[in-house]
Amino acid sequence: MAQKLLMERWASSVPDTYWANFGGSGHFGGNYVRKTSLLLLICVSATCVLAQTETSTSAKPQILGVTWAKGVNQAVFPARGSANMTYHGGKIMPTANITSIFWGTSWGTYSGDKITGIDSYYTGWTNSNYAKASDEYTGTNGQVGPTSTYGGHFIDTTAASGGGNTTAILNEVCKVIPNPDSSGNGYYAVYTDLPRGSAGYCAWHSAGTCGGKTVQFAFFWKLDGDAGCDPADTSGLHSQGLAAIANVSGHELSEARSDPATPGAWYDRSGNENGDKCAWTFGAPLVTFSNGTQWKIQGEWSNAAYTAGTGYPNSSGQKGCLSGK
Ligand SMILES: [Zn+2]
Repeated sequence: MAQKLLMERWASSVPDTYWANFGGSGHFGGNYVRKTSLLLLICVSATCVLAQTETSTSAKPQILGVTWAKGVNQAVFPARGSANMTYHGGKIMPTANITSIFWGTSWGTYSGDKITGIDSYYTGWTNSNYAKASDEYTGTNGQVGPTSTYGGHFIDTTAASGGGNTTAILNEVCKVIPNPDSSGNGYYAVYTDLPRGSAGYCAWHSAGTCGGKTVQFAFFWKLDGDAGCDPADTSGLHSQGLAAIANVSGHELSEARSDPATPGAWYDRSGNENGDKCAWTFGAPLVTFSNGTQWKIQGEWSNAAYTAGTGYPNSSGQKGCLSGK
């Protein structure tokens, strides 16, 4: 069903969005105070005036790459022929320009390790051996590359909603990021403070447009104390809630890179993307990122590893999963 997405006006959308002083590189970096940053954005952006009035029409984005909770909708892997994924004609993400959005009233006073942890997670993603585990896939626009940039995070303390509704999450992305990455490689990870409840999934990714620009985005429940979405990280390095969203973040970003949007790029005959095919299996106790941070993250499917017999087995015993390369 076609739905009309209205761009939020600056005046109504900005006050609830708090600018993060993330010290890394990227266009959200720096030490501006919130108001200064806002003015700066308005002044330097050639399209911001347009964005105030622009509307875009888009079909409701499809949910892709759901991370199902353990034991829910157990993926059906092709039993005959090759277990590998095939190419379906679309683009891949040659790089990923990542921004996090923490959405929900509780983030305003949050003092745990999830925001700082997710910042270091995405900062260390670039050029990690884990990122390289998905770099074999090609599309109409090149090959998945191991590098990414991280632009820091936003905190939106309005009430989160819409975990099962891609349009609601896309609208949130467009509200917080009215001028997304123009290359089409923007990836916006929305971390809500909503518990999963009876939903069968931990996270998902999708694609849409904000102001006519393609965005990749992902949705995450709050997974604190949620055994169905818990990687059981016993390292002591992170809170359980951080470890849980870090694990599913690896799943979703890897899928967005190899299968970002309609008509899709890489998935198998049952529709499973590279994260799905290795969900809830782990090839190493911890994966070390390029900034030295360590995480317990599921592996990602590699056609090349499966063909060569060098991967570790997924839940169906198919040896195509890699925790890094
Ligand atoms: Zn998935």
